[in-house]
Amino acid sequence: MPSYLRKVFENIVGSPVEQSDEVNWQKFERRLKEFRSVLSGKTLSQTPKRPIMNELLKQIERESLRMCQKKGLPWIQKWYCPGEKKFMVFLSHDVDEIEWSWRRKLLMAVKHPSTLTGGRKHYWGFDEIMDLEKEMGFRSTFFFVAKKRHKRDPPYSIEDVADICNELRKGSWEIGVHGSYLSYNRKEFLEEEKRILQSTVGEDIIGVRQHFVNFDPDITFKIQESTDFAYDSTIGFNEISGFAPGICHPYRFAGLSLLELPLMVMDGQLFWHEKLSREGAVQEVSKLLATVEEYNGFLTLDWHQRSFDEYSFPGWAETYTEVLSHLKSMNVFSATGERIVDWWKRREAAQFERRLITKDSVDWRIVANSAIEDLSLRILVPGGSKYRTPDVQSKARYSIEERNSEIWIKFDAIPEGERIAVSMTK
Ligand SMILES: [Zn+2]
Repeated sequence: MPSYLRKVFENIVGSPVEQSDEVNWQKFERRLKEFRSVLSGKTLSQTPKRPIMNELLKQIERESLRMCQKKGLPWIQKWYCPGEKKFMVFLSHDVDEIEWSWRRKLLMAVKHPSTLTGGRKHYWGFDEIMDLEKEMGFRSTFFFVAKKRHKRDPPYSIEDVADICNELRKGSWEIGVHGSYLSYNRKEFLEEEKRILQSTVGEDIIGVRQHFVNFDPDITFKIQESTDFAYDSTIGFNEISGFAPGICHPYRFAGLSLLELPLMVMDGQLFWHEKLSREGAVQEVSKLLATVEEYNGFLTLDWHQRSFDEYSFPGWAETYTEVLSHLKSMNVFSATGERIVDWWKRREAAQFERRLITKDSVDWRIVANSAIEDLSLRILVPGGSKYRTPDVQSKARYSIEERNSEIWIKFDAIPEGERIAVSMTK
């Protein structure tokens, strides 16, 4: 029975078991307890700006690669992102408020008398975000609270947002459940909220993020899984941006099939707690993007839709716009949580069946248990060895690219059930 660490490693790095057999696991298993605890959200990472669990996985990967190459064997993996994208971005918006409270209206009437007239809903923000993302070619996930149960829950009702939910859905944005404050340990609450939102949009909802980052690591994720969510995106810090579970890839909690897409950057963290200026915030996000790129992981951004109100949050919308323009210039796969999870699960379903080694050849078999688009295989060939261009047997269309000791086999679309054979001979 492979340990949790080994399972997460094989899943994220996407390499065959024979390659992890080369690793001296005992050496790394010493950190298993810490690994489990940080990934489960029980203890948040002490080094927020560094994905420490990815650093550990990288060490294991290096050892696996070194051991294979020592034997003169090429090392293979399923690439982390669609095509040859270097990393992924998950854009999201928590919907906590949709209009100014009476208190805020009065306050603003004093500061900005012009806001008294016009009847604009100042926290609405949906149209601005839709226009912006549409124009720049992005789509994101909006998390809505379906039922108010606690004083910390948003003051709106599902009727207030039903139309916008449907409009968003029509335009290919994703709707997720923003679990109400008390739903973190009450299955019947979360179930009801999912049901309400599903009947509002007329389709299944697969993503959830608990409001207020309110969760219990022993209970919440089990409840979410038994409520048929495919992913959660809650584990994050309240006050600082970065990697709370020390990892920047989708991963599974021990024993669960629910995927976690950790929450890494929130607007409030940058401006309220880290007290960054607009430029400072853009810089901080760029730094985190660079880190994520280094590990070929993904970054989650949560920009509350109310932040598009320039009276209450001056400069926040512009910061988001700048981050999007920065993203546009990068080699990134940006998608809703739903699409990232869908692709990631298809990648998982493409499995290495076996590796066969003879004196002068290596042969891998891969079976695609689900159809998948844009999957690439990356092979690292040991320096000085004389392998020829790989021979690929597959009905799926592919192209091969060789750069120094790296070989990329890129598939456009692999049909479900397809068996692929890759052989390398000297
Ligand atoms: Zn919230």
